[in-house]
Amino acid sequence: MPISAAQLAFDQQHIWHPYSSMINPPPMTPVESASGVRLTLSDGRELIDGMASWWSVIHGYNHPRLNAAAHAQIDRMAHVMFGGITHEPAIELARKLVAMTPAGLERVFLADSGSVSVEVAMKMAIQYWHARGKPGKHRLVALRNGYHGDTFGAMSVCDPVTGMHELFAGVLAQQLFVPRPQTRFGEALIEGDLDALEQTLATHGDEIAALILEPVVQGAGGMYFYSPQWLKGARALCDRYEVLLLADEIATGFGRSGELFACNHAGISPDILCLGKALTGGYMTLAATLTTAHIGETISSGGAGCFMHGPTFMANPLACAIANESLALLQERDWKGDVSRIERQLRTQLAPAAELDAVAEVRVLGAIGVVELKQPVTLAEIQPRFVDAGVWVRPFGKLVYVMPPYVMSDTDLHTLCAAIIRVLGELAPAA
Ligand SMILES: *Cc1c(COP(=O)(O)O)cnc(C)c1O
Repeated sequence: MPISAAQLAFDQQHIWHPYSSMINPPPMTPVESASGVRLTLSDGRELIDGMASWWSVIHGYNHPRLNAAAHAQIDRMAHVMFGGITHEPAIELARKLVAMTPAGLERVFLADSGSVSVEVAMKMAIQYWHARGKPGKHRLVALRNGYHGDTFGAMSVCDPVTGMHELFAGVLAQQLFVPRPQTRFGEALIEGDLDALEQTLATHGDEIAALILEPVVQGAGGMYFYSPQWLKGARALCDRYEVLLLADEIATGFGRSGELFACNHAGISPDILCLGKALTGGYMTLAATLTTAHIGETISSGGAGCFMHGPTFMANPLACAIANESLALLQERDWKGDVSRIERQLRTQLAPAAELDAVAEVRVLGAIGVVELKQPVTLAEIQPRFVDAGVWVRPFGKLVYVMPPYVMSDTDLHTLCAAIIRVLGELAPAA
C-alpha cells in the first residue's frame, strides 16, 4: 500500500533521518519491501540497489537462509542479558570471528553498532596502557580523511575538517592527525610517505595509545584507496614506537575490498580490530571488537580487574544467530569470485564517466566503485534522477559511489553503471 501524503508529512515533521534538517527536510523515498538486489517502492517501482544499505547487505535482501535463521532464533529467544549469562549464538560467532580474522585476534567483544565498537576499541587501547603503568598513553593518532563513526570518541578521530564534526571541536578529546597516505593502491610506496607518521610517533610516543585507521580503504571520509605497503610500514612503526594499531574494518570487513579483510592486502594483523556493517548481512545492528590474548589479559590484570564496558544489548542472540548464518553463506559461496567479477565490471563500465565534464576521477577497488565529481552534488536534484533511472545511489558531497551486494548479476550491474553515466552526463557542465 502506498505511503499516504499524511504519513510522509508526519515523517518530515517528526523524524530525524541521517544528517537531516528539521527546517528543510529532504525528500524521502518510501520503500515497501526489498528482495535480492531490488528495493520495491511504495508506488510499486523497483530500484536496483547500488548501496547495499551502506556496505552491509552483501547477500541481498530477504535472503531465505538469513530469514530462516532469524525465525529459528526468535522462536527460541530474541534477547537475553549477557551479564552472567551466555548462549550458543554468541559462542559460535566468536569462534567464527577468531578463526577468520587476521592471526592473533582471539578476544571478542560483541557490541551493538560500529561506532560503539570503535569506542570499545579506544577504551581497550587506553586501559591496556593504564594497566601497563603508562596512563599518560591515552591519545590516538588518526589519518586525515578518516571516518570512524558518530559517537564522541569516534568523532574525535574522524577527519577534523571534513569529518562533519567541527562543531564539537571544543568538546572532543584532542587527538593527533597525520595526512592520509599519498601512495595509491597498487603504486610503489612513495619515498617519505610514512615520514609524517613516524615523526608524530617519535615526538608523541609517550602520550599515544594507538594509531587508528581504516586499512587500505578510507570510506565515508573520501572513498580513497591507499597502498597496502604503507599499511605494512605503519604496522612496523607502531611496533617500533610501542603504539597499538587499531584497524577499523567496519566498512571493509568480509570481502568488500577483494580480500576477506583489508589488512590481508598487507599481510598484517592489527592489535585491535573493529567489525560491523556486513557482519549480519545487513539484517541487524551488530558489531565486534577483537583483540589479542596479551591485550585482553593485560587489561584484566590492571587495577580495575576488568574491561569497563557492557551495553544492554551486548551479543544480542538474534543478531548473533543471523551473523552466524551470514558468515556461513559467505564462506560457502565463491565471494572472492563475485567481488572480482564486480570489480572488473565496475572498472570497464564506470570508465566512460571519466570523460564527463562533471567528473574529476573514477576509481574502483574490489566491489567498490567511486566517481569523484569536481563539484558537490545537490542531493535533492540528483537523487530523483537516479530513482527515475531505476537505481538507488546515494551520493555524498563530490562522491557518487556504489558498493553493490555481492550477488548482483552482470545485467543489473550493467544497468546500475549505465544509469550513473547517464545521470552524471546530464549534470550541468562545470562552470
Ligand atoms: C559506518 C562506519 C562506522 C560507524 O558504524 P555505525 O554502525 O554507523 O555506528 C565506523 N567506521 C567505519 C569505517 C564505518 O564505515
